[in-house]
Amino acid sequence: MSEVRRPSVTFLGEDQPKLRRKAKQAYSDLLLAAKDARAFPPQSGFFVRAAGVTESGLVVTGGNIEYQLSDAFVHGETSVIAGAFSRAGKDDKLTAIGFYNREFSENPPAPCGKCRDAIKEYCDPKLVLLAGTEKRMTATPFKEYLFDSFKSVDPEDLSPQGYDEARVALGQSLDAYLPERMRSRLYGAALVGESRGIFRGSFYTNAGYDASPPILNAVQVWRNTAGDLDFSKVVLGAYDRLPKPSYRDRQALLELDESLMLATGREKPLEVELVSFDRQTGDVTGAAVTNSREWLPHPFSPAAFGMTRALERQIEVLG
Ligand SMILES: [Zn+2]
Repeated sequence: MSEVRRPSVTFLGEDQPKLRRKAKQAYSDLLLAAKDARAFPPQSGFFVRAAGVTESGLVVTGGNIEYQLSDAFVHGETSVIAGAFSRAGKDDKLTAIGFYNREFSENPPAPCGKCRDAIKEYCDPKLVLLAGTEKRMTATPFKEYLFDSFKSVDPEDLSPQGYDEARVALGQSLDAYLPERMRSRLYGAALVGESRGIFRGSFYTNAGYDASPPILNAVQVWRNTAGDLDFSKVVLGAYDRLPKPSYRDRQALLELDESLMLATGREKPLEVELVSFDRQTGDVTGAAVTNSREWLPHPFSPAAFGMTRALERQIEVLG
């Protein structure tokens, strides 16, 4: 009789009885596959060895690949998603992705913003993320990493500061490389400073599809032109709907805000206002509020990783 492995699985997030029943053996096998995945991270030195399983049972491994002074080539999660896509097609979706770590931790590594966007777009909505060894691991439903229930408010109750700039940034979105159906996803950003003005960020991409999102671009405008640290809020605006900011962009704001909080001693996270503009008249037709922390649960952030020095450096280099 073959030996039956009984891994210890710590289920995180809200209780998932179904997950508990079906999980253990399959999860142990998945982490064994992840153990053999290849990774090449010369920039970060952080090896991500991952494996995913699709609904039909196909197992695909993947790892992070980086090169110098650049955006990482591919992360562990996106490597697995690309592998599953090419072998199983878009309909046989990934239902679990596991990360092999030499040591078990009660606090599994959180996926970055880009990977959250990719998982949300291409994987089963009930996807489970596993982390640890084949013997002891955590299992977290992916939805624990998402936040979309923004609080609706009456636009009349908000200050319109930054709305004109967010609308201009929205109008300057470079949409020439997007099909019509994707253009409604565009939004513009405005970082509202107390003393030195308001910094706009619009969506940018090019023929190589090197897209950069609005908040990230607004952060770059601020870095390259100013250096004041006293922001009061961030405004995001879209036409005829409330913006649905990407998780990659949420992460860009959180990293900025963590460095600002460290430098200024401010304790409250920056407020974010999501605003809908009438495309014809430019009037504000709806609004919702959140903040830089709330909209990115279990954040992938330097503060969460204890990288205080990196956060200090962000402000120091501005002089
Ligand atoms: Zn990632």
